[in-house]
Amino acid sequence: AAHFLHGKVALVTGASSGIGAAIAEHLAVAGAKVALAARRIDRLKELQARIEDKGGVAITIVMDVCDEEQVHVGVKRAESVLGPLDILVNNAGVLYYTMMKNVHIKEWQKMVDINVKGTLNCVAAVLAGMVERRRGHIVNVSSDGGRKGFAGLSVYCGTKYFVEGMSQGMRQEVAEFGVKVTCIQPGDVKTELFEKSTDQEAREKYEMVSKMKVLEPGDIAQAVLYAVKQPDHCSVNEILVEPQLAP
Ligand code: NDP
Repeated sequence: AAHFLHGKVALVTGASSGIGAAIAEHLAVAGAKVALAARRIDRLKELQARIEDKGGVAITIVMDVCDEEQVHVGVKRAESVLGPLDILVNNAGVLYYTMMKNVHIKEWQKMVDINVKGTLNCVAAVLAGMVERRRGHIVNVSSDGGRKGFAGLSVYCGTKYFVEGMSQGMRQEVAEFGVKVTCIQPGDVKTELFEKSTDQEAREKYEMVSKMKVLEPGDIAQAVLYAVKQPDHCSVNEILVEPQLAP
């Protein structure tokens, strides 16, 4: 079933790194034309070259998901070059380990701005078009932290609970218009996500990724492929993927 996404158009946010880059590459290898969106253009260009080397089609879109206007313009450009979007992958996100008592309010705000408002900006730019065309799939990269709160990640988990709640409501609203909504809930994946926290106390106490078995970004990309390749009558609402623990 190679190229089962032939003719489809996808936009992936946070495609410059980690999980988003893997999702974009897997979608392209499966035949989709992919718009690679993020702020770091050099990283997007490298991924574009890698996809083209494999015979895929990709364009790059510089967009900060927090900037409503940039998102709107970016989606318009993707659609004018590649065609109407069939798939939006809301993957851009940040994680900062913080302890609530240490009040790293700037980092809390960034998580809300990017993980919550950024996701909304992207939904706002694509959903009306999908509904009008009676076709579309929004894939939100949530987290296992969208199902359970973790110490050191209270605000992060809050942002992912938002993604889950919003997705559940939206799914019911858009089903009658042929639009699907999927939440992917990864456990720990080896990426750059964990390198940015400044709350050393929280990091030392709770940061587990460096000590744990972790997933590869490609494992999450496989889950996205599974969700987007289903027939019309089948909606994959959630996929929780965690590292297999040692026996
Ligand atoms: P990375 O740090 O490797 O990638 C994050 C991506 O988000 C980058 O491409 C970055 O691009 C983009 N991004 C960050 N801020 C913005 C912004 N303001 N506008 C546009 N893009 C932005 O992390 P991961 O690949 O691990 O994370 C991807 C998603 O997966 C996140 O939503 C994360 O919460 C989720 N997740 C990750 C897990 C893990 O263990 N790694 C587990 C569960 C969920 P750029 O800086 O170029 O803009």
